[in-house]
Order: sequence, then C-alpha cells, then structure tokens
Amino acid sequence: MNKSTQACSGPHETVVESRYERQLWMKQLGAAGQHKLAQASILVVGAGGLGSPILLYLAAAGVGTLGIVDGDTLSLSNLNRQTLYSTKDIGQPKALLARDRLLTLNPEVRIEAYPARLDPDNAYALFNAYDVIVDATDNYATRYLISDAAVLFDKPLFIGAVSSLYGMTFTVIPRKTACFRCLYPKAPTFTMERTERARGILGTTPGIIGSILAQNVIKYIVGYGDWLAGKLLLMDGEDNRFELVPIERDQACPVCGDHPTITEPLPTHVDPQQNGC
Ligand SMILES: [Zn+2]
Repeated sequence: MNKSTQACSGPHETVVESRYERQLWMKQLGAAGQHKLAQASILVVGAGGLGSPILLYLAAAGVGTLGIVDGDTLSLSNLNRQTLYSTKDIGQPKALLARDRLLTLNPEVRIEAYPARLDPDNAYALFNAYDVIVDATDNYATRYLISDAAVLFDKPLFIGAVSSLYGMTFTVIPRKTACFRCLYPKAPTFTMERTERARGILGTTPGIIGSILAQNVIKYIVGYGDWLAGKLLLMDGEDNRFELVPIERDQACPVCGDHPTITEPLPTHVDPQQNGC
C-alpha cells in the first residue's frame, strides 16, 4: 500500500486504491452511479474557458465517451482561463489538444475530437451520437443553434455563459423546461457582445460556472440531486452573490412552444472577431 492509499483508505485499510474510489464512497453515487457514468456519452461544444473545467471534471469522473467540438486554434490570450492548455500549445487546434490532455488525465475515457465549428449541417450527426449536450460556447449565434438543435433532436442540454465576473447556467429538458430561446427570444446585437467582451474576463469566472455545470451533468447522469432544469443560476462574482431564478417554458416559443415555427436548425452568422470565452 503506497502512501496515498494509506491517506485515502479511511477505516478500511484493505481497500485497494482505485481512480474513482473517493466518489464511489459517496452514497449518492456508488458503483451503480459509476456504471452510469461509464455508459454515458457527452458532447461538449466549445473547449475554451468553460469547456476546460467541464471536460477536465467529466473525464476525471469517468464519463465513458466525451465529444469535443471546437474549430479554433489556441492563442496566447486564451491562457488566462483555458486551463486545459499550455504555452507550448499555441497555434494548434484546441479540440485535438484537449483530447490529448484529457487522455493523459484519464486514458479510460473515449475521446472524440471534432476540430470544426458546429453548423446546421453537422449538428444532427453530432448531437445524435451523444446522450447529453453541453453548451460551452461564447457567442449567441452558436448558442441559439445548440439550443434549437437540442430541442429539435430531443437531447438534454446544459448551458453555461460567462462574462467578466458574471456567469449563468441552466439546463434544458426539451419541451419540458425553458430553452435558450424561451429565455432570450431575440439575440443581443453583435455590438452588445463586443461591448461585453471589452469588459474582459477573469479565468475564475468560467472556472466556477463550468465546475457547477459539470457537477450538474454528473448528477443528471447518475440521477440524484438537482440539475437546474427550469431554474437559472446567476452568479455575481464581484459581490459573491448567487441567485436562483425559476424559469418556465414559453408556450409561444418558436422552437419548443405549442406551435413551433423553427423545425430545423437555422444558419448561423458567427462574428469572426469573437474569441473563446
Ligand atoms: Zn423554447
């Protein structure tokens, strides 16, 4: 028994150290929960500031299959918050870098890297291959596409968004709880996004929101606790305030409402000036 095993083995000194033993000890998870995690497949769109903690924690927890969609290459200014990466990685595709990093963390996880931008043409094939979708992107155009596609293809969706010291996260159970379009029927203009971006972002903001999101994905798969379906969690990191706001599906929503008018993913117009969150 090595030193770390002795430190972690609790009252049962005969326990053999294993990768997941500390979470297996949790009564909410146990062997049955670990098996569910191993069977799960999760598609994470965006491998930036939010995607970093989400992917790291999901891989560490032993999720069976992780898909990573990101069409960007790593730049120096990503590194204050995108903790998956190293300085030596600059200029390389983030989806491939993320896959390699996650496999060093946990070689038991199957990782599929898609170094491409999500668009209406590839959305169905990508979403259809996974049980759960995570929106870790940084722009409204892609966020509408992800939310619409999750509803249209009937996939549970976990959304995170961050800016400066502020963040939010909520979960969409298609046609049961509010989708992104229920919450924000009209997209803010790109000018507004640029203004938000000019305010900058501290790396801890996506670190916190991404960690909460990953925790909710794990609880959803295992089947315990609350996972923010029908609730919006808002974080004000400046004043250390968290607020939980109930949200309802809009019956007039053009995607998940009673009489939908959007029946297939719409073309996106992503601002080329945008960078990872
Ligand atoms: Zn909706």
